[in-house]
Amino acid sequence: MIPTEIRADFPILSEICYLDSAATSLSPEPVLAAMLEFEHVYRANVGRGVHRLAQVASQKYWDAHQKARRFIGAEGGELVFTRNTTEAINMIAWGLPWQNGDGIVTTLLEHHSNLLPWMRLRDQKGIDLQLIAPAADGALDLADFERAITPDTRLVAITHASNVLGNLVPVREIARICRDQGALLLVDGAQSVPHIPVNVERLGCDFLCFSGHKMLGPTGTGLLWMRRPEIEPLLLGGGAVDQVSTSGYTLASGYTRFEAGTPNIAGAIGLSRAVEYLEALGMEDVKRHEQALTRRMLEGLAGIPGVRVLGPGPAGDRIGVVSFTVGDMHPHEVATILDEEADIMVRSGHHCCMPLMTHLGIPDGTVRASLHCYNNADDVDRLIETVGKIAGGA
Ligand code: PLP
Repeated sequence: MIPTEIRADFPILSEICYLDSAATSLSPEPVLAAMLEFEHVYRANVGRGVHRLAQVASQKYWDAHQKARRFIGAEGGELVFTRNTTEAINMIAWGLPWQNGDGIVTTLLEHHSNLLPWMRLRDQKGIDLQLIAPAADGALDLADFERAITPDTRLVAITHASNVLGNLVPVREIARICRDQGALLLVDGAQSVPHIPVNVERLGCDFLCFSGHKMLGPTGTGLLWMRRPEIEPLLLGGGAVDQVSTSGYTLASGYTRFEAGTPNIAGAIGLSRAVEYLEALGMEDVKRHEQALTRRMLEGLAGIPGVRVLGPGPAGDRIGVVSFTVGDMHPHEVATILDEEADIMVRSGHHCCMPLMTHLGIPDGTVRASLHCYNNADDVDRLIETVGKIAGGA
């Protein structure tokens, strides 16, 4: 059970109905307090100085990495802080040693952030890029992966959960195919890690990329976990090296190798507090809470004449991301009315998934309502009632 009192940790919820957590989540007061404590009490750079503030900041920054590792069940490998999922994915695209004849397999479900880096490799390095198309509800056919993944496939890059249709992708089964063919597996966990228990050992992936700002942490924070940190670092500079002379340098080991320059220290500390917050709620409970609300939302919206709900139904394996259209109204128009008439914040448009929208035949995109642990049944009912009124007048 998610205690209703947690809503007090998100004061803006007393003014609005926030249903846009798939874009970015709200941050609870304890996360903001942890960041403010850094600013007031021990603000200093990390990994360099010997004075006491530098030592406290460095220790907390190191702890933040350990907490994030624990959150995704990483027993080995390396966890690196990034700005967001996009940066994490680009670090892999840039850092892997690509060779002639390498192939990449991905899907049409992907967010542009898990598509454009691979398209650039196709266009600039001649990498073979295969795009697997989902069914209308987002379901992917494992037989397509069996066919597409061959010994030439260097990397399979897939989302764990669609940010448009909400369906969960069978990552463990795809990991098995990757292992059989010797391909690396990158999982875009931007929409899964904040909402369901995710364990990299159980998933069997080689890379997991996700965003701190979608899991109650500050904006400008993201994470990259690598089973084998063999990529070339994107940036070089202060903090990333052990030894430098005019004739050469030795890169540091550990996460610092991949985090050259002064990092977002307050952000990392806030993110680790967000991890603790989610752990205290329990990710199984977060998942159950959001599943119950998703069911309510799907059933309510499906009962409104003129509303078309996309993605898997209430019984499907999904997260709390619900896309819909209202008659032939433009999604932006619906989203604007929801805001102006009922203080409901939703996302509208293509959701950074233009190829998916083309594939689904809805170039204007959808209205997307997305949940997090702080939402309740009243939020869902308010959305259903207001969409009902809009559809009635559409
Ligand atoms: N991947 C998915 C599935 C997403 O939903 C998003 C953001 O919405 C991203 C990647 C990109 O995340 P960020 O903007 O934090 O880099």
